Amino acid sequence: MTERLMTDHLYIAGEWVKPSTSDTIAVENPATEETIDHVPAGGSSDVDAAVAAARAAFDGWAATAEGDRRAALDRLHTALSARSDAIARTVGLELGAPLKVARSIQAGLPLTVLRWYADALPESEETLGNSLVVHEPVGVVAAITPWNYPLHQVVTKVAAALAAGCTVVLKPSEITPLVSYLLFDAVHEAGLPPGVLNLVTGTGPEVGAALAAHPDVDMVSFTGSTATGRSIARAAADRIAKVALELGGKSANVVLPDADLTAAVKVGVGNAFLNSGQTCTAWTRMLVHESRYAEAVEMAAAAAGKYRLGDPFDEATRLGPVVSAAQRERVRAFLSRAEARVAAGGLDAAVPERGHFVAPTVLADVDPASEVAQEEIFGPVLAIIPFRDDDDAVRIANDSRYGLAGAVWSADEQRALAVARRMRTGSVDINGATFNPAAPFGGYKQSGIGRELGPYGLAEFQQTKAIQR
Ligand code: NAD
Repeated sequence: MTERLMTDHLYIAGEWVKPSTSDTIAVENPATEETIDHVPAGGSSDVDAAVAAARAAFDGWAATAEGDRRAALDRLHTALSARSDAIARTVGLELGAPLKVARSIQAGLPLTVLRWYADALPESEETLGNSLVVHEPVGVVAAITPWNYPLHQVVTKVAAALAAGCTVVLKPSEITPLVSYLLFDAVHEAGLPPGVLNLVTGTGPEVGAALAAHPDVDMVSFTGSTATGRSIARAAADRIAKVALELGGKSANVVLPDADLTAAVKVGVGNAFLNSGQTCTAWTRMLVHESRYAEAVEMAAAAAGKYRLGDPFDEATRLGPVVSAAQRERVRAFLSRAEARVAAGGLDAAVPERGHFVAPTVLADVDPASEVAQEEIFGPVLAIIPFRDDDDAVRIANDSRYGLAGAVWSADEQRALAVARRMRTGSVDINGATFNPAAPFGGYKQSGIGRELGPYGLAEFQQTKAIQR
Protein backbone atom coordinates (compact mmCIF):
# COMPACT_ATOMS: atom_id res chain seq x y z
CA MET A 1 0.00 0.00 0.00
CA THR A 2 1.21 3.53 -0.76
CA GLU A 3 2.42 5.18 2.43
CA ARG A 4 0.50 8.36 1.84
CA LEU A 5 -2.60 8.56 -0.33
CA MET A 6 -2.39 10.96 -3.28
CA THR A 7 -5.35 13.00 -2.10
CA ASP A 8 -4.12 16.17 -3.83
CA HIS A 9 -4.16 14.40 -7.23
CA LEU A 10 -6.63 12.95 -9.71
CA TYR A 11 -6.20 9.55 -11.35
CA ILE A 12 -6.33 9.71 -15.15
CA ALA A 13 -4.99 7.28 -17.78
CA GLY A 14 -3.29 5.09 -15.19
CA GLU A 15 -1.40 7.90 -13.44
CA TRP A 16 -1.77 10.24 -10.52
CA VAL A 17 -2.01 13.69 -12.13
CA LYS A 18 -2.18 17.24 -10.84
CA PRO A 19 -5.64 18.84 -11.20
CA SER A 20 -6.09 21.76 -13.61
CA THR A 21 -7.09 24.13 -10.81
CA SER A 22 -5.65 24.82 -7.38
CA ASP A 23 -9.09 24.85 -5.77
CA THR A 24 -9.65 22.27 -3.05
CA ILE A 25 -12.51 20.90 -0.98
CA ALA A 26 -12.11 20.35 2.76
CA VAL A 27 -13.14 16.96 4.12
CA GLU A 28 -14.57 17.06 7.63
CA ASN A 29 -14.80 14.48 10.39
CA PRO A 30 -18.49 14.82 11.40
CA ALA A 31 -17.84 13.44 14.89
CA THR A 32 -15.22 16.09 15.77
CA GLU A 33 -16.02 18.82 13.22
CA GLU A 34 -12.30 18.93 12.34
CA THR A 35 -10.93 19.13 8.82
CA ILE A 36 -9.08 15.91 8.11
CA ASP A 37 -7.89 16.43 4.54
CA HIS A 38 -8.46 18.31 1.29
CA VAL A 39 -9.13 16.94 -2.19
CA PRO A 40 -9.00 18.71 -5.57
CA ALA A 41 -12.06 20.59 -6.78
CA GLY A 42 -11.63 19.39 -10.37
CA GLY A 43 -12.77 21.42 -13.34
CA SER A 44 -14.18 20.78 -16.78
CA SER A 45 -10.74 20.32 -18.38
CA ASP A 46 -10.03 17.52 -15.89
CA VAL A 47 -13.34 15.95 -16.91
CA ASP A 48 -12.36 16.26 -20.58
CA ALA A 49 -9.00 14.59 -19.93
CA ALA A 50 -10.56 11.74 -17.94
CA VAL A 51 -13.30 11.11 -20.53
CA ALA A 52 -10.69 11.15 -23.31
CA ALA A 53 -8.61 8.57 -21.38
CA ALA A 54 -11.66 6.36 -20.86
CA ARG A 55 -12.55 6.68 -24.57
CA ALA A 56 -9.01 5.80 -25.65
CA ALA A 57 -9.04 2.72 -23.40
CA PHE A 58 -12.52 1.55 -24.41
CA ASP A 59 -11.87 -0.48 -27.58
CA GLY A 60 -9.02 -2.41 -26.00
CA TRP A 61 -10.90 -3.15 -22.78
CA ALA A 62 -14.11 -4.11 -24.60
CA ALA A 63 -12.10 -6.52 -26.76
CA THR A 64 -10.26 -8.02 -23.78
CA ALA A 65 -11.36 -11.61 -23.23
CA GLU A 66 -13.95 -11.80 -20.50
CA GLY A 67 -11.75 -14.14 -18.48
CA ASP A 68 -8.96 -11.56 -18.51
CA ARG A 69 -11.34 -8.80 -17.40
CA ARG A 70 -12.47 -11.00 -14.52
CA ALA A 71 -8.83 -11.74 -13.65
CA ALA A 72 -8.20 -7.99 -13.41
CA LEU A 73 -11.18 -7.67 -11.05
CA ASP A 74 -9.76 -10.55 -9.04
CA ARG A 75 -6.43 -8.69 -8.68
CA LEU A 76 -8.35 -5.58 -7.66
CA HIS A 77 -10.22 -7.62 -5.05
CA THR A 78 -6.92 -8.84 -3.62
CA ALA A 79 -5.51 -5.31 -3.47
CA LEU A 80 -8.68 -3.87 -1.96
CA SER A 81 -8.97 -6.68 0.62
CA ALA A 82 -5.48 -5.80 1.84
CA ARG A 83 -6.83 -2.32 2.59
CA SER A 84 -10.00 -3.32 4.45
CA ASP A 85 -8.82 -1.97 7.82
CA ALA A 86 -7.86 1.32 6.20
CA ILE A 87 -11.24 1.43 4.42
CA ALA A 88 -13.15 0.96 7.68
CA ARG A 89 -11.02 3.61 9.39
CA THR A 90 -11.41 6.07 6.52
CA VAL A 91 -15.19 5.70 6.34
CA GLY A 92 -15.24 6.03 10.13
CA LEU A 93 -13.39 9.33 9.81
CA GLU A 94 -15.15 10.96 6.86
CA LEU A 95 -18.69 9.65 7.43
CA GLY A 96 -18.70 9.03 11.19
CA ALA A 97 -19.73 5.38 10.75
CA PRO A 98 -19.26 3.39 13.99
CA LEU A 99 -16.44 0.83 13.68
CA LYS A 100 -18.74 -2.21 13.64
CA VAL A 101 -20.77 -0.87 10.70
CA ALA A 102 -17.64 0.50 9.05
CA ARG A 103 -16.00 -2.93 9.12
CA SER A 104 -18.95 -5.17 8.32
CA ILE A 105 -20.86 -3.07 5.82
CA GLN A 106 -18.84 -0.09 4.62
CA ALA A 107 -15.72 -2.21 4.01
CA GLY A 108 -17.24 -5.70 3.84
CA LEU A 109 -20.04 -5.18 1.35
CA PRO A 110 -17.95 -3.71 -1.50
CA LEU A 111 -15.57 -6.66 -1.24
CA THR A 112 -18.51 -9.07 -1.48
CA VAL A 113 -19.81 -7.25 -4.56
CA LEU A 114 -16.41 -7.13 -6.21
CA ARG A 115 -15.92 -10.85 -5.50
CA TRP A 116 -19.27 -11.57 -7.14
CA TYR A 117 -18.34 -9.77 -10.37
CA ALA A 118 -14.87 -11.35 -10.42
CA ASP A 119 -16.50 -14.80 -10.17
CA ALA A 120 -19.63 -14.27 -12.27
CA LEU A 121 -20.31 -16.76 -15.02
CA PRO A 122 -19.28 -15.70 -18.51
CA GLU A 123 -21.94 -13.93 -20.57
CA SER A 124 -23.64 -16.19 -23.07
CA GLU A 125 -25.06 -15.26 -26.43
CA GLU A 126 -28.51 -16.54 -27.28
CA THR A 127 -30.33 -17.63 -30.40
CA LEU A 128 -33.87 -16.37 -30.99
CA GLY A 129 -35.32 -17.71 -34.24
CA ASN A 130 -32.86 -16.65 -36.96
CA SER A 131 -31.26 -14.04 -34.69
CA LEU A 132 -28.04 -14.24 -32.74
CA VAL A 133 -28.45 -11.96 -29.72
CA VAL A 134 -25.18 -10.60 -28.37
CA HIS A 135 -24.41 -8.37 -25.39
CA GLU A 136 -21.90 -5.57 -25.80
CA PRO A 137 -20.56 -2.92 -23.42
CA VAL A 138 -22.35 0.44 -23.53
CA GLY A 139 -19.10 2.43 -23.75
CA VAL A 140 -17.71 5.19 -21.55
CA VAL A 141 -19.56 5.40 -18.23
CA ALA A 142 -19.68 8.33 -15.82
CA ALA A 143 -20.27 7.07 -12.26
CA ILE A 144 -21.53 9.73 -9.84
CA THR A 145 -21.98 8.62 -6.24
CA PRO A 146 -23.21 9.89 -2.83
CA TRP A 147 -21.68 9.88 0.64
CA ASN A 148 -23.74 7.43 2.68
CA TYR A 149 -22.10 4.15 1.60
CA PRO A 150 -19.15 5.81 -0.09
CA LEU A 151 -17.19 2.74 -1.22
CA HIS A 152 -20.08 0.32 -1.71
CA GLN A 153 -21.89 2.65 -4.11
CA VAL A 154 -18.68 3.19 -6.09
CA VAL A 155 -17.75 -0.50 -6.30
CA THR A 156 -21.31 -1.53 -7.23
CA LYS A 157 -21.06 0.62 -10.35
CA VAL A 158 -17.38 0.16 -11.17
CA ALA A 159 -17.25 -3.64 -10.79
CA ALA A 160 -20.33 -4.21 -12.96
CA ALA A 161 -19.24 -1.67 -15.59
CA LEU A 162 -15.71 -3.09 -15.86
CA ALA A 163 -17.01 -6.67 -15.96
CA ALA A 164 -19.31 -5.67 -18.82
CA GLY A 165 -16.34 -4.19 -20.74
CA CYS A 166 -17.08 -0.49 -20.16
CA THR A 167 -14.52 2.11 -19.09
CA VAL A 168 -15.35 4.52 -16.29
CA VAL A 169 -14.82 8.03 -14.97
CA LEU A 170 -15.74 8.21 -11.29
CA LYS A 171 -16.85 11.33 -9.43
CA PRO A 172 -17.34 10.38 -5.79
CA SER A 173 -19.21 12.55 -3.31
CA GLU A 174 -17.19 15.60 -2.31
CA ILE A 175 -18.31 14.96 1.29
CA THR A 176 -16.65 11.51 1.52
CA PRO A 177 -14.03 11.35 -1.26
CA LEU A 178 -11.16 9.85 0.77
CA VAL A 179 -12.14 6.19 0.59
CA SER A 180 -12.07 6.43 -3.23
CA TYR A 181 -8.37 7.23 -2.95
CA LEU A 182 -7.88 3.86 -1.25
CA LEU A 183 -9.74 2.23 -4.13
CA PHE A 184 -7.52 3.92 -6.72
CA ASP A 185 -4.42 3.05 -4.74
CA ALA A 186 -5.60 -0.56 -5.12
CA VAL A 187 -6.40 -0.02 -8.81
CA HIS A 188 -2.86 1.19 -9.38
CA GLU A 189 -1.37 -1.78 -7.54
CA ALA A 190 -3.65 -4.24 -9.38
CA GLY A 191 -2.34 -2.87 -12.69
CA LEU A 192 -5.62 -2.20 -14.44
CA PRO A 193 -4.94 -1.00 -18.01
CA PRO A 194 -4.50 2.80 -18.17
CA GLY A 195 -7.72 4.73 -18.76
CA VAL A 196 -10.05 1.87 -17.82
CA LEU A 197 -10.88 3.56 -14.52
CA ASN A 198 -10.36 7.27 -13.82
CA LEU A 199 -10.99 9.50 -10.81
CA VAL A 200 -12.02 13.15 -10.88
CA THR A 201 -13.01 14.65 -7.53
CA GLY A 202 -15.00 17.84 -7.26
CA THR A 203 -18.41 19.31 -6.66
CA GLY A 204 -21.67 18.16 -8.24
CA PRO A 205 -22.47 21.36 -10.13
CA GLU A 206 -18.89 21.50 -11.50
CA VAL A 207 -17.57 17.97 -12.16
CA GLY A 208 -20.85 16.01 -11.90
CA ALA A 209 -22.75 18.27 -14.27
CA ALA A 210 -19.84 18.34 -16.76
CA LEU A 211 -19.81 14.52 -16.82
CA ALA A 212 -23.58 14.23 -17.20
CA ALA A 213 -23.56 16.64 -20.16
CA HIS A 214 -20.35 15.36 -21.78
CA PRO A 215 -20.84 14.45 -25.46
CA ASP A 216 -18.42 11.52 -25.20
CA VAL A 217 -20.03 9.88 -22.15
CA ASP A 218 -22.33 7.07 -23.31
CA MET A 219 -23.99 6.36 -19.98
CA VAL A 220 -24.38 8.04 -16.61
CA SER A 221 -24.81 5.76 -13.61
CA PHE A 222 -25.93 7.87 -10.68
CA THR A 223 -26.79 7.25 -7.05
CA GLY A 224 -28.03 10.14 -4.95
CA SER A 225 -31.02 12.35 -4.37
CA THR A 226 -34.08 12.37 -6.61
CA ALA A 227 -33.59 16.10 -7.31
CA THR A 228 -30.06 15.57 -8.66
CA GLY A 229 -31.17 12.46 -10.55
CA ARG A 230 -33.74 14.56 -12.36
CA SER A 231 -31.13 17.12 -13.47
CA ILE A 232 -28.77 14.34 -14.63
CA ALA A 233 -31.55 12.71 -16.67
CA ARG A 234 -32.30 16.07 -18.27
CA ALA A 235 -28.64 16.61 -19.20
CA ALA A 236 -28.38 13.10 -20.64
CA ALA A 237 -31.64 13.51 -22.60
CA ASP A 238 -30.08 16.04 -24.97
CA ARG A 239 -27.89 13.36 -26.54
CA ILE A 240 -30.09 10.35 -25.58
CA ALA A 241 -27.34 8.95 -23.34
CA LYS A 242 -28.33 6.01 -21.21
CA VAL A 243 -28.96 6.71 -17.51
CA ALA A 244 -29.25 4.47 -14.48
CA LEU A 245 -30.60 6.23 -11.41
CA GLU A 246 -30.60 4.93 -7.83
CA LEU A 247 -32.48 7.57 -5.87
CA GLY A 248 -34.23 8.15 -2.57
CA GLY A 249 -36.72 6.04 -0.66
CA LYS A 250 -39.33 6.02 2.10
CA SER A 251 -39.68 2.31 2.66
CA ALA A 252 -42.45 0.65 4.64
CA ASN A 253 -41.91 -2.15 7.14
CA VAL A 254 -45.30 -3.88 7.33
CA VAL A 255 -45.89 -5.79 10.58
CA LEU A 256 -48.96 -8.03 10.15
CA PRO A 257 -50.96 -8.98 13.28
CA ASP A 258 -49.61 -12.56 13.40
CA ALA A 259 -45.94 -11.46 13.20
CA ASP A 260 -43.22 -12.16 15.75
CA LEU A 261 -43.51 -8.62 17.11
CA THR A 262 -40.27 -8.71 19.12
CA ALA A 263 -38.21 -9.67 16.07
CA ALA A 264 -40.08 -7.34 13.72
CA VAL A 265 -39.59 -4.30 15.95
CA LYS A 266 -36.01 -5.11 16.89
CA VAL A 267 -34.88 -5.66 13.29
CA GLY A 268 -37.08 -2.81 12.07
CA VAL A 269 -35.57 -0.28 14.48
CA GLY A 270 -32.06 -1.52 13.66
CA ASN A 271 -32.76 -1.09 9.96
CA ALA A 272 -34.19 2.41 10.34
CA PHE A 273 -31.23 3.63 12.42
CA LEU A 274 -28.46 1.85 10.50
CA ASN A 275 -25.78 4.32 9.41
CA SER A 276 -27.58 7.03 11.46
CA GLY A 277 -30.64 6.57 9.26
CA GLN A 278 -28.66 7.59 6.19
CA THR A 279 -29.60 4.58 4.10
CA CYS A 280 -31.67 4.88 0.93
CA THR A 281 -33.46 1.59 1.63
CA ALA A 282 -34.09 2.36 5.34
CA TRP A 283 -37.49 1.14 6.58
CA THR A 284 -38.40 4.59 7.86
CA ARG A 285 -42.13 3.88 8.10
CA MET A 286 -43.13 1.06 10.43
CA LEU A 287 -46.72 0.02 9.68
CA VAL A 288 -48.20 -1.98 12.57
CA HIS A 289 -51.62 -3.61 12.86
CA GLU A 290 -53.82 -1.59 15.21
CA SER A 291 -54.21 -4.55 17.61
CA ARG A 292 -50.46 -4.47 18.38
CA TYR A 293 -49.72 -0.81 17.74
CA ALA A 294 -49.30 0.43 21.33
CA GLU A 295 -47.06 -2.51 22.20
CA ALA A 296 -44.90 -1.93 19.10
CA VAL A 297 -44.44 1.79 19.86
CA GLU A 298 -43.37 0.96 23.41
CA MET A 299 -40.90 -1.66 22.21
CA ALA A 300 -39.46 0.62 19.52
CA ALA A 301 -39.06 3.50 21.98
CA ALA A 302 -37.29 1.20 24.45
CA ALA A 303 -34.98 -0.07 21.69
CA ALA A 304 -34.18 3.50 20.56
CA GLY A 305 -33.39 4.48 24.15
CA LYS A 306 -30.67 1.82 24.32
CA TYR A 307 -28.65 3.25 21.41
CA ARG A 308 -25.31 4.56 22.54
CA LEU A 309 -24.25 7.70 20.67
CA GLY A 310 -20.71 8.92 20.51
CA ASP A 311 -17.22 8.51 19.12
CA PRO A 312 -17.42 6.19 16.09
CA PHE A 313 -14.04 4.72 17.07
CA ASP A 314 -15.30 3.60 20.49
CA GLU A 315 -16.31 -0.07 20.12
CA ALA A 316 -19.36 0.52 22.36
CA THR A 317 -20.84 3.20 20.08
CA ARG A 318 -23.86 2.10 18.08
CA LEU A 319 -24.87 5.40 16.52
CA GLY A 320 -22.49 7.93 15.03
CA PRO A 321 -23.27 11.48 13.93
CA VAL A 322 -25.03 12.38 10.69
CA VAL A 323 -22.64 13.39 7.94
CA SER A 324 -22.63 17.18 8.16
CA ALA A 325 -23.96 20.26 9.92
CA ALA A 326 -26.30 20.84 6.97
CA GLN A 327 -27.67 17.30 7.20
CA ARG A 328 -28.21 17.70 10.95
CA GLU A 329 -30.10 20.95 10.43
CA ARG A 330 -32.21 19.32 7.72
CA VAL A 331 -33.18 16.46 10.04
CA ARG A 332 -33.91 18.84 12.92
CA ALA A 333 -36.11 20.99 10.67
CA PHE A 334 -38.22 17.93 9.80
CA LEU A 335 -38.55 17.14 13.51
CA SER A 336 -39.53 20.71 14.37
CA ARG A 337 -42.37 20.62 11.81
CA ALA A 338 -43.56 17.11 12.72
CA GLU A 339 -47.05 16.84 14.14
CA ALA A 340 -46.66 13.52 15.91
CA ARG A 341 -46.09 12.09 19.35
CA VAL A 342 -42.38 11.83 20.22
CA ALA A 343 -42.06 8.38 21.79
CA ALA A 344 -38.25 8.51 21.98
CA GLY A 345 -35.48 10.99 21.18
CA GLY A 346 -36.61 14.21 19.55
CA LEU A 347 -35.14 17.69 19.43
CA ASP A 348 -34.60 18.04 23.18
CA ALA A 349 -32.92 14.69 23.84
CA ALA A 350 -29.30 14.83 25.01
CA VAL A 351 -26.60 14.29 22.39
CA PRO A 352 -22.81 14.73 22.50
CA GLU A 353 -21.91 18.41 22.36
CA ARG A 354 -19.32 18.15 19.64
CA GLY A 355 -20.21 16.51 16.32
CA HIS A 356 -23.35 16.49 14.21
CA PHE A 357 -25.44 14.20 16.39
CA VAL A 358 -29.19 13.60 16.26
CA ALA A 359 -30.85 11.46 18.96
CA PRO A 360 -32.49 8.27 17.66
CA THR A 361 -36.11 9.34 17.38
CA VAL A 362 -39.36 7.38 17.30
CA LEU A 363 -42.49 9.25 16.19
CA ALA A 364 -45.89 7.68 16.94
CA ASP A 365 -49.43 8.44 15.76
CA VAL A 366 -48.00 9.65 12.46
CA ASP A 367 -50.47 10.69 9.74
CA PRO A 368 -49.46 8.73 6.60
CA ALA A 369 -50.00 11.87 4.51
CA SER A 370 -47.82 14.10 6.70
CA GLU A 371 -44.35 15.34 5.81
CA VAL A 372 -42.42 12.94 8.08
CA ALA A 373 -44.26 10.00 6.49
CA GLN A 374 -43.76 11.22 2.92
CA GLU A 375 -40.31 12.85 2.75
CA GLU A 376 -36.95 11.13 2.97
CA ILE A 377 -35.40 12.51 6.18
CA PHE A 378 -32.03 10.72 6.02
CA GLY A 379 -31.49 10.77 9.77
CA PRO A 380 -32.26 8.40 12.68
CA VAL A 381 -36.02 9.02 12.63
CA LEU A 382 -38.64 6.25 12.58
CA ALA A 383 -42.35 6.98 11.99
CA ILE A 384 -44.83 4.37 13.29
CA ILE A 385 -48.24 4.21 11.63
CA PRO A 386 -51.21 1.96 12.50
CA PHE A 387 -53.28 0.03 9.91
CA ARG A 388 -56.62 -1.82 9.98
CA ASP A 389 -56.14 -4.81 7.65
CA ASP A 390 -53.82 -6.10 4.92
CA ASP A 391 -55.49 -3.95 2.23
CA ASP A 392 -55.05 -0.86 4.38
CA ALA A 393 -51.39 -1.75 4.98
CA VAL A 394 -50.74 -2.11 1.23
CA ARG A 395 -52.55 1.18 0.54
CA ILE A 396 -50.44 3.08 3.10
CA ALA A 397 -47.20 1.38 2.01
CA ASN A 398 -47.86 2.38 -1.62
CA ASP A 399 -48.93 5.92 -0.73
CA SER A 400 -45.48 7.30 -1.55
CA ARG A 401 -43.79 8.81 -4.56
CA TYR A 402 -40.87 6.51 -3.78
CA GLY A 403 -40.67 2.75 -4.32
CA LEU A 404 -37.25 1.46 -3.36
CA ALA A 405 -37.55 -1.25 -0.70
CA GLY A 406 -39.76 -2.60 2.05
CA ALA A 407 -40.42 -5.43 4.45
CA VAL A 408 -43.26 -7.68 5.60
CA TRP A 409 -43.50 -9.72 8.80
CA SER A 410 -46.00 -12.54 9.33
CA ALA A 411 -46.10 -16.06 10.77
CA ASP A 412 -47.79 -17.06 7.50
CA GLU A 413 -45.29 -16.83 4.66
CA GLN A 414 -48.00 -17.00 1.97
CA ARG A 415 -49.79 -14.05 3.52
CA ALA A 416 -46.51 -12.09 3.70
CA LEU A 417 -45.75 -13.00 0.09
CA ALA A 418 -49.18 -11.80 -1.04
CA VAL A 419 -48.55 -8.40 0.60
CA ALA A 420 -44.97 -8.27 -0.79
CA ARG A 421 -46.28 -8.85 -4.34
CA ARG A 422 -48.66 -5.91 -4.00
CA MET A 423 -45.99 -3.47 -2.80
CA ARG A 424 -44.81 -1.14 -5.58
CA THR A 425 -41.11 -1.31 -4.71
CA GLY A 426 -37.93 -2.77 -6.21
CA SER A 427 -37.37 -5.15 -3.31
CA VAL A 428 -39.15 -6.54 -0.25
CA ASP A 429 -37.68 -8.59 2.62
CA ILE A 430 -39.87 -11.11 4.41
CA ASN A 431 -39.29 -11.81 8.12
CA GLY A 432 -35.82 -10.26 8.20
CA ALA A 433 -34.38 -12.23 5.28
CA THR A 434 -30.64 -11.89 4.72
CA PHE A 435 -29.19 -9.51 2.12
CA ASN A 436 -28.52 -11.15 -1.24
CA PRO A 437 -25.68 -9.39 -3.11
CA ALA A 438 -26.75 -10.97 -6.43
CA ALA A 439 -30.40 -9.84 -6.24
CA PRO A 440 -31.46 -6.91 -8.46
CA PHE A 441 -31.45 -3.65 -6.52
CA GLY A 442 -33.29 -0.51 -7.61
CA GLY A 443 -36.43 1.52 -7.47
CA TYR A 444 -39.97 1.87 -8.76
CA LYS A 445 -41.50 5.33 -9.23
CA GLN A 446 -39.24 8.23 -8.18
CA SER A 447 -36.73 5.88 -6.55
CA GLY A 448 -35.03 5.38 -9.87
CA ILE A 449 -34.49 3.71 -13.21
CA GLY A 450 -32.50 0.53 -13.73
CA ARG A 451 -31.03 -2.10 -11.44
CA GLU A 452 -27.70 -2.68 -9.75
CA LEU A 453 -25.94 -5.79 -8.38
CA GLY A 454 -25.74 -9.31 -9.76
CA PRO A 455 -26.60 -10.18 -13.36
CA TYR A 456 -29.18 -7.38 -13.67
CA GLY A 457 -26.55 -4.87 -12.58
CA LEU A 458 -24.20 -6.17 -15.26
CA ALA A 459 -26.88 -6.03 -17.95
CA GLU A 460 -27.41 -2.34 -17.14
CA PHE A 461 -23.98 -1.62 -18.65
CA GLN A 462 -24.65 -3.56 -21.86
CA GLN A 463 -26.24 -2.94 -25.21
CA THR A 464 -28.11 -5.78 -26.87
CA LYS A 465 -27.52 -6.50 -30.56
CA ALA A 466 -29.51 -8.82 -32.82
CA ILE A 467 -27.70 -10.33 -35.80
CA GLN A 468 -30.04 -12.03 -38.28
CA ARG A 469 -28.77 -14.92 -40.35
P1 NAD B 1 -26.81 14.28 -4.01
O1 NAD B 1 -27.78 14.04 -5.08
O2 NAD B 1 -26.70 15.62 -3.43
O3 NAD B 1 -25.32 13.94 -4.50
C1 NAD B 1 -24.98 12.71 -5.09
C2 NAD B 1 -23.83 12.93 -6.06
O4 NAD B 1 -24.27 13.78 -7.13
C3 NAD B 1 -22.62 13.63 -5.44
O5 NAD B 1 -21.45 13.08 -5.99
C4 NAD B 1 -22.81 15.07 -5.89
O6 NAD B 1 -21.61 15.79 -5.96
C5 NAD B 1 -23.39 14.88 -7.27
N1 NAD B 1 -24.15 16.03 -7.78
C6 NAD B 1 -24.79 17.01 -7.07
N2 NAD B 1 -25.36 17.90 -7.91
C7 NAD B 1 -25.10 17.48 -9.17
C8 NAD B 1 -25.43 17.97 -10.46
N3 NAD B 1 -26.15 19.06 -10.63
N4 NAD B 1 -25.02 17.27 -11.53
C9 NAD B 1 -24.29 16.14 -11.39
N5 NAD B 1 -23.93 15.63 -10.19
C10 NAD B 1 -24.34 16.29 -9.09
O7 NAD B 1 -27.10 13.17 -2.91
P2 NAD B 1 -26.34 12.94 -1.53
O8 NAD B 1 -26.79 14.00 -0.60
O9 NAD B 1 -24.88 12.75 -1.75
O10 NAD B 1 -26.90 11.52 -1.11
C11 NAD B 1 -28.08 11.35 -0.41
C12 NAD B 1 -29.19 10.86 -1.33
O11 NAD B 1 -28.80 9.70 -2.05
C13 NAD B 1 -30.43 10.46 -0.61
O12 NAD B 1 -31.55 11.03 -1.21
C14 NAD B 1 -30.47 8.94 -0.75
O13 NAD B 1 -31.71 8.36 -0.69
C15 NAD B 1 -29.84 8.74 -2.05
N6 NAD B 1 -29.30 7.38 -2.14
C16 NAD B 1 -29.91 6.47 -2.97
C17 NAD B 1 -29.41 5.19 -3.05
C18 NAD B 1 -30.03 4.15 -3.95
O14 NAD B 1 -29.36 3.20 -4.28
N7 NAD B 1 -31.26 4.28 -4.34
C19 NAD B 1 -28.31 4.83 -2.32
C20 NAD B 1 -27.74 5.77 -1.49
C21 NAD B 1 -28.24 7.04 -1.43
